[in-house]
Amino acid sequence: MTVRGSLRLPRNGALNVREDWSERFAETPDVLKSAWREQTVVPVLEIEIGGGEFVTMAGPCSVETEFQLLATANHLRRAGARILRGGAFKPRSSPYAFQGLGLEGLKMLARAREESGLAIVTEVISEDDVPMVAEYADILQIGSRSMENYSLLEAAARSGRPILLKRGMVATIADLLRSAQCILDHGNPHVILCERGIRTFETALRNTFDAAAIALLKEISHLPVIADPSHAAGRRELVPALARIAVAAGADGLLVEVHPHPDKAWSDGRQSLDFAGFDEMMAALDPWIALRGSELLRREAAGARLMEEVR
Ligand code: PEP
Ligand code: MN
Repeated sequence: MTVRGSLRLPRNGALNVREDWSERFAETPDVLKSAWREQTVVPVLEIEIGGGEFVTMAGPCSVETEFQLLATANHLRRAGARILRGGAFKPRSSPYAFQGLGLEGLKMLARAREESGLAIVTEVISEDDVPMVAEYADILQIGSRSMENYSLLEAAARSGRPILLKRGMVATIADLLRSAQCILDHGNPHVILCERGIRTFETALRNTFDAAAIALLKEISHLPVIADPSHAAGRRELVPALARIAVAAGADGLLVEVHPHPDKAWSDGRQSLDFAGFDEMMAALDPWIALRGSELLRREAAGARLMEEVR
């Protein structure tokens, strides 16, 4: 038996599929792709985040000592990282845990930049600290626990520094985009989105890594997207696998915790890679990054051919 004439597609069906996302995220129009909005490329020293190069940001969870930080920075630079991370202000799950070295930590980060040439990303947790952190950092990190602190977002936006916006652990994609829109609204276009795992019913790991969010954000937003496999997994042995997944999902880069002696780290040691682990992860990522690069080139070539035919 044949069924005829039952499937009627609207003439502008393809358009509707695309429009669906702009309706769904209508509250945050400026973070969405559009015909006139090009991919946002965030310049940081001589690095371009979102410009095609896969950018790795790495370093300890917390800045602890000058020796720890400089040893890490020097190793990371040789191993291919471009940006050094390290928290001088730590928003901990417990108020009794180590809260960071503050200004002393910022000064150590600046020294590490001088010695290694790596750019610095570090978290700011209080509105009052924004001018001080912005003086030392190349990128301000807004942490998961602060994603919806709009007065902090506004102060960070006004500093003019690029902003690494981490997804809240219970934030939806719409919530993340709303915070990004808020930064854009305050005159700062240089926002980098970061997927770092969310809380779900699954408790085997620290968080649930939402790889689909990376794919979706790359599909709908012009902002660069980076992945943090360390906070997502909470276990160093899973970090390389999640990093590969992030590459495959289209992330523009990674944020990874690395420590010279993870078992002695003052915070997040369980999820931090040691130097050898970082080297191994980077080597294992290379073919995946290369594969993605050649896919992009293939797609660009196909697009160019199509344009030729249209002309
Ligand atoms: C961190 O990067 O060390 C951190 C505290 O991350 P999050 O805000 O994602 O928990
Ligand atoms: Mn951490």
